Amino acid sequence: MSEYDYDLFVIGAGSGGVRAARVSAAHGAKVAVAEEHRVGGTCVIRGCVPKKLLVYGAHFAEDLQDAKRFGWEVPDCKFDWPTLRENVLAEVDRLNGLYTQTLDNHGVEIIQERATIEGPHQVRLASGRTVTAKYILVAVGAWPMVPDCEGAEFGITSNEVFHLEALPKRIVIAGGGYIANEFAGIFHEFGSHVTLVNRSDQILRGYDMQIRDRLLQISMMKGIEFRFNAPFEKVVKQGDGSLLVHMKGQEPVECDALLFATGRRPKTEGLGLENAGVELDGQGAIRVDDYNRSSCQSIYAVGDVTNRVQLTPVAIREGQAFADTVFGGNPHKVDYGSIPSAVFSHPPLAGVGMTEAEARNKIGSISVHTSDFRPMKNVLAGRNERGLYKMICNAETGKVIGLHMIGPDAPEILQAAAVAVKAGLTKQDFDDTVALHPSMAEELVLMK
Ligand code: NDP
Repeated sequence: MSEYDYDLFVIGAGSGGVRAARVSAAHGAKVAVAEEHRVGGTCVIRGCVPKKLLVYGAHFAEDLQDAKRFGWEVPDCKFDWPTLRENVLAEVDRLNGLYTQTLDNHGVEIIQERATIEGPHQVRLASGRTVTAKYILVAVGAWPMVPDCEGAEFGITSNEVFHLEALPKRIVIAGGGYIANEFAGIFHEFGSHVTLVNRSDQILRGYDMQIRDRLLQISMMKGIEFRFNAPFEKVVKQGDGSLLVHMKGQEPVECDALLFATGRRPKTEGLGLENAGVELDGQGAIRVDDYNRSSCQSIYAVGDVTNRVQLTPVAIREGQAFADTVFGGNPHKVDYGSIPSAVFSHPPLAGVGMTEAEARNKIGSISVHTSDFRPMKNVLAGRNERGLYKMICNAETGKVIGLHMIGPDAPEILQAAAVAVKAGLTKQDFDDTVALHPSMAEELVLMK
């Protein structure tokens, strides 16, 4: 008989927590997982999945326009937000059910309550019950961060955006990162007037400069407005319910909704981590070693709460590595090299490996190859949007060390190409591969 109630107690049933729980259970551990919201976490319930469905929904606006040039008679089409919203939320319900079922099938006990840590092996549930576990895994994720300014409470975050009663005629989106650019595209395609406001003078810091500049140009051409170097001063709610957003050094902007997309913070506050001596970094993230272990020997953490790479597939890998290490007798670390990522803007962009600036700083001797082209479909559609693919190579070895692209289906194409980059292939290997014609992806093997 174990001296603990469980071998593993997981706090948080998001992507990382669910993977860790079910794999640990499959390795023979007695596992419980506590979740205060819904099983599935940010990605499934209020993140990647419903967002991507909105991206699909939004893109029909352009497809319907383009269809006319391809000979289709398209009657006047009208977009109905409640229909899409309800269908998306129903899909979220279905996935929530599937995630719950997966845990059930693996014999993981689901406790639908908030849990806090009372000691290295002890957890207190909201109902007052305490339970013990040999190991505790914290996988509570991150939460939207809202800048501290007067009237900020009138804004919403990505948590609420999927539930909007009606589409705003005018929306201000604060931030210049992933969420801001994805929702700028979504709302613009639905017909809202979008103003994106960022405190700095750029969007998507971390992505390749030329690629994000292309997105900025295309977004502006479509009619999305940008305000840069514009930190928030205050938000005022007016008599008619609209909002007036004041920024330093800028004219105020009037809108019907304000979406904060200003980053996400690890959700460690009030979790009782201090009761077990778990150390946090300056951002409130749990410090862990290469095996996801915190400064308390019995407490581990995976996913956004550790603020390493805030991406779902990374959290899943960390959850898997934790379970295999602690319960599977197969200790291993996650390899953080060459992680592909994408922004589902209109058009989308995607990248893997080093940007040109990063490569110049780190490697020095590099070669840069680009293909700047107008996709065939856009030509016939009369859509003046060019794609841009960019390959960064180590000039000495020829190895591809970065690949960045913007254009239709860029994330789909990049996922496949990322295999080649991860495998350490060279530009010559790309060039030796016969083009698949006609496609956009063939540009990858035809670069000068
Ligand atoms: P990001 O970190 O991508 O961007 C945050 C933006 O907010 C930046 O432009 C930043 O400005 C600005 N900002 C930060 N703090 C403040 C502040 N106090 N006041 C005003 N502006 C501020 O965060 P997101 O919220 O867009 O997304 C959170 C995370 O979720 C991402 O980092 C990503 O890992 C993940 N995500 C991934 C997606 C994907 O893979 N497609 C989609 C959505 C989210 P500055 O430029 O000055 O730093």
